[in-house]
Amino acid sequence: MTRKNLFKILLVQMFVIFVAIAPTQAAKKIRVVTSLPDLADIAKQIGGDKVDVFAIAKGYQDPHFVDAKPSYMIKLKKADLFVQVGLDLEIGWVPPLLEGARNKKILWGGDGFVDASKSMALLQVPRGDPSKLRAKGDIHIFGNPHYWLDPLNGKIIAQNIFEGLIKIAPENETYFKQNLEAFEQKINDADQRWQALMAPYRGTEIYAYHNSWPYFEQHFGFKIAGFIEPKPGISPSPKYMAKVINEMKNKNIRIIIIEPYYPPKSAELVAKNTGAVLVELAPEVGGQPGVDDYFKLFDTNINKLIEAFKKVGVEPKPLSN
Ligand SMILES: [Zn+2]
Repeated sequence: MTRKNLFKILLVQMFVIFVAIAPTQAAKKIRVVTSLPDLADIAKQIGGDKVDVFAIAKGYQDPHFVDAKPSYMIKLKKADLFVQVGLDLEIGWVPPLLEGARNKKILWGGDGFVDASKSMALLQVPRGDPSKLRAKGDIHIFGNPHYWLDPLNGKIIAQNIFEGLIKIAPENETYFKQNLEAFEQKINDADQRWQALMAPYRGTEIYAYHNSWPYFEQHFGFKIAGFIEPKPGISPSPKYMAKVINEMKNKNIRIIIIEPYYPPKSAELVAKNTGAVLVELAPEVGGQPGVDDYFKLFDTNINKLIEAFKKVGVEPKPLSN
């Protein structure tokens, strides 16, 4: 074999190796892990085909209390980006998972860590020492953490995820930016539709089991008069339930929103004594059948609420313009 031929063969071999490797490198996706499915859906919409997204909690699980399974640590170990709700919502399960994963990139302060609550206008920020509040059993000690239930807050979450993505993959900035703008436009369009559906019911008073809904309530203009839980995370006593029943009767409140992961017994008892109907809404993506993205979360919850308003005879108010 001549030297020239040997060189040719080597060249062909190198080319074969290059072709074999190149597609896997091109297809290597950014591995995103999020605490909640809502963050995962928004991450998918911004990351598009550049990301592979996994949500730890399922929408039918209480986001305050999730099992810190070792399989989640493995996911986090391999993650390029981690996104959490923050405000101590995940205090019981995210810190042990991050500790077990031993992945420096995605720890607080690392390039691969995103706290989706950054720049969020929070509701119900309590006064007083958070640790003392927690000791009393309150689980919303830095303000209400269920902020993704206002669709406009979805845009802030998207912006935070966008900033995280461009830190770890700056070469895709234009692509992520296009997706962010498309997402914002989609939210604005959908919100006009949602607002129009809810407008005739502004001011309607209802009750809820857990304090998951203040952002949803504020954005869509109905009014949550009280909760079956005396404090977030505390089950009601019989005495407290009697007070709830009394208030609902006095104010003629006929609807109680419940979440899929709380025991329905106390809400059922209150409903039985007041003639109210229970409406199970999706507190997160995946929290009801068919709620498989952030837009369906609002579509479904709004439809279910309006159905309940009609069922109990809440008259839609004529709009002034
Ligand atoms: Zn909560």
